Amino acid sequence: MDFRMSDEQLALQEAARAFAKNELAPLAAEIDRTAQPISREMVKRYGELGFLGINIPEELGGLGLGNVEALVVLEEFAKISSAVAFPVFESCVGPVRALEHFAEPSLSKRIVPEVCSGDKIVAVSMSEPGAGSALTDLTTTGKLADGNVTLNGAKRWCSGGGHSDAYLIYTRLSEDKGAKGIGAVLVEKGTAGLSFGAPEELMGFRGIPSADIYLDDCTVPEENIVVPAGGFSKLMEAFDLERCGNATMALGQASGALQEVLEYVQEREQFGKPLVDFQGVQIKLAEMQMQVEAARLLIWRAAANAENGLPSILDSSVGKCFSNQIAREVTGNAVQLMGAYGYSKQYGMERRLRDSWGWSIAGGAIDIQKTNIAAAMIGRRFDQRR
Ligand SMILES: Cc1cc2nc3c(=O)[nH]c(=O)nc-3n(C[C@H](O)[C@H](O)[C@H](O)COP(=O)(O)OP(=O)(O)OC[C@H]3O[C@@H](n4cnc5c(N)ncnc54)[C@H](O)[C@@H]3O)c2cc1C
Repeated sequence: MDFRMSDEQLALQEAARAFAKNELAPLAAEIDRTAQPISREMVKRYGELGFLGINIPEELGGLGLGNVEALVVLEEFAKISSAVAFPVFESCVGPVRALEHFAEPSLSKRIVPEVCSGDKIVAVSMSEPGAGSALTDLTTTGKLADGNVTLNGAKRWCSGGGHSDAYLIYTRLSEDKGAKGIGAVLVEKGTAGLSFGAPEELMGFRGIPSADIYLDDCTVPEENIVVPAGGFSKLMEAFDLERCGNATMALGQASGALQEVLEYVQEREQFGKPLVDFQGVQIKLAEMQMQVEAARLLIWRAAANAENGLPSILDSSVGKCFSNQIAREVTGNAVQLMGAYGYSKQYGMERRLRDSWGWSIAGGAIDIQKTNIAAAMIGRRFDQRR
């Protein structure tokens, strides 16, 4: 066991940190104000600089590094903002990983390299109006006939909805009830029968477009089936990695907040001395530091222990749940320590608080993670319906 980063990892972290700070920090406030995503030109630059698909094999256009390396880079981008980090998140831990692991090579070879180069963005669409935490209640259907699959249904809360170039749609692909009938199909933008609702106005996540997705007799070739009916557990395996990405996005809100507030409390004076000289402030800072470091270690452990590139449900749920919780607390304390400046939109701290709440609902709310954790500890699932 070795808790030190290698020279290569440190160099990668430094490169990501410098790029994010110099080139992305000036964009974050504007993206939050306009709610427009980062430009496609900038996403292409991410690709050229090697910040996309870091943990995807080289033969599919990635860097061929590990999950830890991908998450190290992701945190540096997330420290600036969720919106600027989102393309890194999608390319390293998003639905593209399900494609890489489970799709027909003809499909993965067509799509994944384009994601790594920044030419394509792929989003995941699981949730529906009646299926959130109870994901296996989803009702979208895909009927197989003549070498095609025809999808019908309505999806909700898709991050990237309307903006992304392709969507991994969770759908029923057989008559089997519950999880057994569920698989996933890739649908590309522009396919007849695929349409989007109005852009959502969320509390945070500004610059990460979100919209409903409608599928009306939307027909794609069978080759686009990434996981057939019966493969729900495979989708969840790929999702264990996405959970580490979610945790890292939350961590980035917290570690970025801590970094900024640390400078602030040394500069801002009240009662004739810097805020940091008050013991109450010191205690808050120490607690924030402990929370951030513990979250980072849990996430890296989950990523480093991943078998076949995909972490365990226990490690990834512990990492996500803890990171989600502390991000809400750390960013809340950072807003508090900055007083009115923390509450003002001008200084960007309140954005971190808003985004932290989003990450703690997206990808499974905190309490659902806790039921996952308890189930993994005991070794059996708890039926939430009985
Ligand atoms: C910012 C953001 C981004 C998102 N991005 C995507 C995306 O890209 N693709 C996608 O498919 N979905 C996305 N989602 C949807 C997300 O996955 C769901 O919101 C999430 O799974 C919770 O579902 P729900 O909102 O329907 O809440 P519900 O399922 O209605 O749950 C509401 C609350 O009830 C409680 N609860 C529910 N069931 C239980 C239980 N069994 N035990 C204990 N407590 C329970 C929890 O506190 C939970 O927070 C996103 C959501 C957000 C907020």
